[in-house]
Amino acid sequence: QVQRHLFIPEAYIDEAYNDYPLSIGYGQTISQPFIVAIMTEALKLSGKEKVLEIGTGSGYQAAILAELAEQVYSIERLPAIAKRSRKILDELKYSNIVITIGDGTLGWKEHSPYDGIIVTAASPYPPKILLEQLKIGGRLIIPIGDEFTQDLTLYIRESESDYKKESYGSCRFVKLIGEQGWRE
Ligand code: SAH
Repeated sequence: QVQRHLFIPEAYIDEAYNDYPLSIGYGQTISQPFIVAIMTEALKLSGKEKVLEIGTGSGYQAAILAELAEQVYSIERLPAIAKRSRKILDELKYSNIVITIGDGTLGWKEHSPYDGIIVTAASPYPPKILLEQLKIGGRLIIPIGDEFTQDLTLYIRESESDYKKESYGSCRFVKLIGEQGWRE
């Protein structure tokens, strides 16, 4: 239902439905559709959830989450990118997506705790604050590794202090830049 060609620059329109990431400018990318699918599936959404996304980028992943969850909050570091995705998501009438500009490694306390958190940029470790902003039973999916290759990792919060960890295979994302990620 979510048309990927609406979220990418004109120049790559012909490649919109190929299964690989594409440039969206500012050194950032729209994720590969297969990876979007794996990450979305890992959150096990039923339609009632409150989800936090770190790295709005093109807005494509946010739109897919908005189809499958009740409410989506998304944080983007680069104002120009956030502005562009807001515009397209408004045109498509996604009223259940709220975007803010800031450092997503610090989470978004105001709307926490979340049923699901999805980080669409590569991190050296899972940001502690994001783990803390999960509900008990909540799921965090995040690529963990170095800047060249990462392991898609799912953390399920089982209690106040216990998390179960599962691996969903390797991937390659742009860097998560922030206080609890990589330095600029
Ligand atoms: N989910 C996006 C893909 C995003 S690419 C999509 O569907 O297209 C990764 C994005 O994360 C980039 O736009 C980058 O600017 C952003 N980013 C990197 N570090 C961040 C941080 N600390 N907080 C919020 N956004 C961040």
